[in-house]
Amino acid sequence: MSKAVYQVRAYNLRHSYDVSDFLEDYRLLLQRTIDEIWKNIQWVERKNKGRRPIPIVPKSNEFKRNLRNALLRDWCYSKHYVDSAIKQAYSTIKSWKRNYLKDRRSRERPIVKRKFARIKGTLYSYKDGKIRVSIRPYEEHLEFDISKAWFISRARGRMGELILRENYLTITYRFRKKYEDAKGRIAWDSNEKSLDGFNPELGWIKIDLSYLFHIHRVYELKRQRLQSLASRKQSLKKILEKYSKRERNRARDFVHKLTTELSRRFSNYVHGFEDLKKENMLIRRKKSTYKGLKKHNRNISKTDWRMIAILMSYKSRVVFLNPKNSSRRCSRCGMVNAPKGALYECKRCGLRIDRQLNAAVNLYLQMEGLTPSPKLFKELMRGWRGFTLTGGEAESPNEPERGLRLMNLKGYVCLLKTT
Ligand SMILES: [Zn+2]
Repeated sequence: MSKAVYQVRAYNLRHSYDVSDFLEDYRLLLQRTIDEIWKNIQWVERKNKGRRPIPIVPKSNEFKRNLRNALLRDWCYSKHYVDSAIKQAYSTIKSWKRNYLKDRRSRERPIVKRKFARIKGTLYSYKDGKIRVSIRPYEEHLEFDISKAWFISRARGRMGELILRENYLTITYRFRKKYEDAKGRIAWDSNEKSLDGFNPELGWIKIDLSYLFHIHRVYELKRQRLQSLASRKQSLKKILEKYSKRERNRARDFVHKLTTELSRRFSNYVHGFEDLKKENMLIRRKKSTYKGLKKHNRNISKTDWRMIAILMSYKSRVVFLNPKNSSRRCSRCGMVNAPKGALYECKRCGLRIDRQLNAAVNLYLQMEGLTPSPKLFKELMRGWRGFTLTGGEAESPNEPERGLRLMNLKGYVCLLKTT
């Protein structure tokens, strides 16, 4: 199975046309389009009074047709710019809406400040190394000779959208990036201090996340020391905010290095991560003495795990998996148990296995679209030799005997160790 994904590259070309008036007219057109859509937004109040009302953006074909006709009446340039503006206005409002619903933007219409025009394929032609951009039909056009441009030998694929600015023309190229056929799949189970991967050929891969945990712990202690004072002093609130920002940056930095390393080491594998939005995280967590701390920790781990999956998806092929019962189901017989502690024990078939490995095997089975069975389990664990995964020597023939790959990314140094 190979999957094609489009990639876009952009190159800038300097020009000396005076397009200032045109760009200003386009900016006004775009602003007017946004205003027209904005006026027709319906605000739906929510039952919960504290929540912001939901904006319903008009999208009917009739609305779009009327909008287009109204805009065309005062537009003296090529008609397709109106279509560009409508498309751009919708995407601007869409992004405003997403942020507004997350409380990141106020209920004010977006304002277009920058002067630029998006030029779709219908507004230009490309022939003999020359791009001809239409401004007014049959009357005015701009010509850009790119036959000697530095990027011409590097550019791959088809020319896409152009962006016209006062001094530059940005030229985009779209090309298909073909992934090689996947070598296999690795399923990752996210835990507080480790990331546990499983693939039958590679075995159990354990990534040490204690450094990430340590980052959060350090800032948590710092915050706790200051928190009681912060309510009285404004300046301390600022310090707390600064700490949070640093904490996030350090965590992100670590996760970037981790995901780069993982996608390099396991390139051409498809990586499966739990879609943790769906799960109630309470069940997976250990008891903590301090309620607020527990909640805080939980939120942090959750964002870290999601960040790992998201950053990984920029660098490798990632699929999202349903986390339901992944840590409670027996990867051998499929029975749902209520495991306690680090060792998973199945009440039906008697399997004893590291709890995190069990979860990773379950996720792997899900990735392959398989259901657990003793025969399949035997197949997956075949060839494993060495020490048991629970630390001691195998006590029962059920327990998989196989080496564990431990990857320690603490301090950004990577060690691969087989026990
Ligand atoms: Zn079982």
